Amino acid sequence: MDILLVDDDIVDRAVITRTLKKSNLSVNITEARTVDQGIKLYNQHSFDVILLDYNLPLRDGIEMVVEIRNTPKDSSTAIVMMSTSENETLALECIKAGAQDFLIKSEISEKRLRRAILHATTRHDLEKKLFETYQKVKILAETDSLTGLPNRYFFDESLKLALTNNRRNSNTLALLLLDLDNFKLINDNFGHDTGDIFLQKTVSIIKNCLRGNEIFARLGGDEFAITLVNLESSEHAILVAQRIINAMQQPLEVASTLIHSTVSIGIALQTDNSKTSEEIFKHADIAMYRSKKWGRNQACFFEDKMQEKFYKRLQIEVELRVALEKQQFQLFYQPVLEPKSGSVKGFEALIRWEVDGVMRAPDEFIKVAEETQQILPIGLWVIEQAISTLAKWNVGREEPFTMSINVSAVQLRSLDIVDFLIDCLSKHKVSAHLIEIELTETVLFKDTLTSRQVISALTASGCRLSLDDFGTGYSSIAHLRNYPISIVKIDKSLMPETVLDVKKTALVEGLVAMATILGLDIVAEGAETQLHVDLCTKLKIQRVQGYFYSRPKPQHEIEKMYL
Ligand code: C2E
Ligand code: CA
Ligand code: CA
Repeated sequence: MDILLVDDDIVDRAVITRTLKKSNLSVNITEARTVDQGIKLYNQHSFDVILLDYNLPLRDGIEMVVEIRNTPKDSSTAIVMMSTSENETLALECIKAGAQDFLIKSEISEKRLRRAILHATTRHDLEKKLFETYQKVKILAETDSLTGLPNRYFFDESLKLALTNNRRNSNTLALLLLDLDNFKLINDNFGHDTGDIFLQKTVSIIKNCLRGNEIFARLGGDEFAITLVNLESSEHAILVAQRIINAMQQPLEVASTLIHSTVSIGIALQTDNSKTSEEIFKHADIAMYRSKKWGRNQACFFEDKMQEKFYKRLQIEVELRVALEKQQFQLFYQPVLEPKSGSVKGFEALIRWEVDGVMRAPDEFIKVAEETQQILPIGLWVIEQAISTLAKWNVGREEPFTMSINVSAVQLRSLDIVDFLIDCLSKHKVSAHLIEIELTETVLFKDTLTSRQVISALTASGCRLSLDDFGTGYSSIAHLRNYPISIVKIDKSLMPETVLDVKKTALVEGLVAMATILGLDIVAEGAETQLHVDLCTKLKIQRVQGYFYSRPKPQHEIEKMYL
């Protein structure tokens, strides 16, 4: 039996050691004089019993018990406390803290000590078993055995907790209630076993639509609930709901049969921090009822404003699909010039979407296209279009134009874009160094292995990288140094409105100085007035673009003006 003896009194230690040796126990004794020494030894070795004096210098014995019982190390060590004084309250306190027995030093005899040690180890074993059983019962009480998800009981408790935490941090929280649209039919037609497997598969599909930090529970039957916490914006709830609805469009294979059930979702938000768990549940339930009533296979919000946003987004998503098929996109081009001479150096390609003769600006649809990945085919179309146009424009030009192409973070998730770009360049015989790929800082923040690989492959292909919207985000020097960026585009919002706007002027001056020191090329965006052009000239900014020279224009107009 391995025993750790913690006592600062050398005489007491000697007495106890002698007593132990005389008892019939075969013991191995390690000694410590303070709590800290004791804890260190406890962490390094495994002991069967700790004999622990209450009166110790600096930290007392109870502190040691508390610390040991709160460390994750699965402890099978029993603790017997010792003290010189007979004090009932102290003895109880020690037991409450996690010791198994309490001895008064003057009463210690071979027999007492032996019995205390044996009782303590047995008692500790029983306590451990009890705790393990408690944990098992707790898990059983809180999880749904079919799917392994938390059950309704756990969900209710965690929702209450999440709402309280949320109120403190005043973040957005969303509750999604999900109900399968034809589960009863599946059960009736294929039997309950098949229904069960279908539910399990559905759960893993829904899990794939989540990040993993949500509370996802089975409330019963074919009803599920998801709590989304710490939402960056309430729109994220739209995104998650839409992702789940889309994922459920595919039939599932169960026992070599394809079975299909769509899902209806009701969503309620806690944005104003006023809803209780009962209220938010009721509201999500009402929203769910609407989803069913309005035709199932859809999500509804309790809040009207959110419902409007949701429809708008959905409409754009559907229309984008058509636009891709019918090629309703157009590329506009905005000239990029040298401010001093006013000579055109190149162009930036900016996408437009024409619906019934009305031009839609990218701000209305790029975000949706990014969220639905529709930006991938759109992005490839932009690349092909921009490069073929540049090839045409550069025929016979001594000093060829450059072409800037905007690329979103989503587009950097696969190397396909690089292969496509290289193919386009060789097909249209365009030199890669004329292509400037514009990335925003958010891209660099989502620093994943693939995006890093794509960025290096883009540079290796010979294209130049440009950091867009410079000065609006973090404008971190680390980004400029860690990535192969050769151009920064100073954002249009930084252009001073009047000469009196000394703050913005100073900011632009600072950014230009920083970029110059780092050896980067600079392009200023949003040059709208003579004042802007003068400032750019004064700061020796190499290139500018803006309404002062030209708005983005369709290809034929650019050709008429500059070619
Ligand atoms: P951006 O890359 O910062 O593009 C510059 C935006 O500023 C363009 O808006 C342009 O029309 C506008 N602009 C140009 N000169 C001036 C000026 O003097 N004053 C003002 N106030 N604005 C000026 P646009 O075309 O609406 O594009 C908005 C954003 O959409 C772009 O911002 C870009 O981030 C994104 N975008 C555009 N085309 C594409 C594309 O093909 N792919 C991707 N992924 N994103 C694109
Ligand atoms: Ca840009
Ligand atoms: Ca920009």
